[in-house]
Amino acid sequence: MPIRNRYAEMLDEITGWRRDFHTHPELLFEVHRTAGKVAGMLRDFGCDEVVEGIGRTGVVGVIRGRASDSGKVIGLRADMDALPIHEATDLEYASETPGMMHACGHDGHTAMLLGAAKYLAETRNFNGTAVVIFQPAEEGGAGGLEMCRDGLMERFGIQEVYGLHNAPGLPVGHFAIRPGALLASSDEFEIVVTGKGGHAAEPHKSVDTTLVAAHILISLQSIVSRNIDPLHRVVVTVGTFQTDSVASNIIANQVTMAGTVRTLDAENRAFAEQRIREIAEGTAAAMGASAEVRWERGYPVTMNTPDNTVYAADVARQVSGNVEDNVDPIMPAEDFSYMLEERPGAYIFVGNGDSAVCHHPAYNFNDDAIPFGSSWYSGMIEARMPVEE
Ligand SMILES: [Zn+2]
Ligand SMILES: [Zn+2]
Repeated sequence: MPIRNRYAEMLDEITGWRRDFHTHPELLFEVHRTAGKVAGMLRDFGCDEVVEGIGRTGVVGVIRGRASDSGKVIGLRADMDALPIHEATDLEYASETPGMMHACGHDGHTAMLLGAAKYLAETRNFNGTAVVIFQPAEEGGAGGLEMCRDGLMERFGIQEVYGLHNAPGLPVGHFAIRPGALLASSDEFEIVVTGKGGHAAEPHKSVDTTLVAAHILISLQSIVSRNIDPLHRVVVTVGTFQTDSVASNIIANQVTMAGTVRTLDAENRAFAEQRIREIAEGTAAAMGASAEVRWERGYPVTMNTPDNTVYAADVARQVSGNVEDNVDPIMPAEDFSYMLEERPGAYIFVGNGDSAVCHHPAYNFNDDAIPFGSSWYSGMIEARMPVEE
């Protein structure tokens, strides 16, 4: 099946929405303009229900099929938020807000799901209920979790949930997915090492905190290389390292370092935390200092349910001949993971072509991907809830 002709007809319209969102980026939960536009459009399309304010600024539209005796309810999700990046493109529709930019393509995701919602509300060629979900604060604010906590799944009776993300480097018209872990968990840690500061010329009267912290920093790299099963994937990165010494002739009293841990399963996630605590505290103690580890859990692993991954890949195959269904997982994180913790479903990558990478100031969503993304979204509804002719 080629891309639906309807989306070819709608391409200019959907592209217009996308570029309007691009010009007016908003951050985290403050997506008031975007959410308002989305809700207004969903009403114009004739959605049976439009609910705003779920998970603070999330929007949900309900579209009932031509028949509903299947009792099935499927959720489709897009994210609406931008990033605190100063745009460096020459686009005529570039961001009009300095320091804010749609650098992750959420403008495209929102526009593609709106296109699918318009098509589904027009055609209603399914037996069941489609729920279109527009979430705020994907970029670090856990807006997906906030919507789940607000009762998203129960309130609308959602049984399965599907989402997508554009993928720079993957050709337009190509899809990529895998069963199980597709994106990593993301946790942050801070280690504060306290020794005994003093005169740089009299180290024997001090505990050199910088030296202790340096040993910890290097030993942390033994977690992945020596403790984790070499066939598993884990990242431990220390991003900052600061001493409280202000001069070259002072031995620091305190050193603070902070980093992130990425894993693809709950066991390694817990194990990496345990090892970081043991290495920091044990190394500090062995050298006469002390270490305090603070841990902040971020997004969980994005875990595709195997059956639903097959359904998602099948629909992608109907939309396009190019579907990689066992792509390598990647180590960024995604807060659609919270929705997949609550319901079976799948997350798929849609080619963005040869663009700058996501979160780069020269990134731009590729409008040529719109018919593929919109077709996949609505295809999930028609394929999972077919009407018996
Ligand atoms: Zn992003
Ligand atoms: Zn993103």
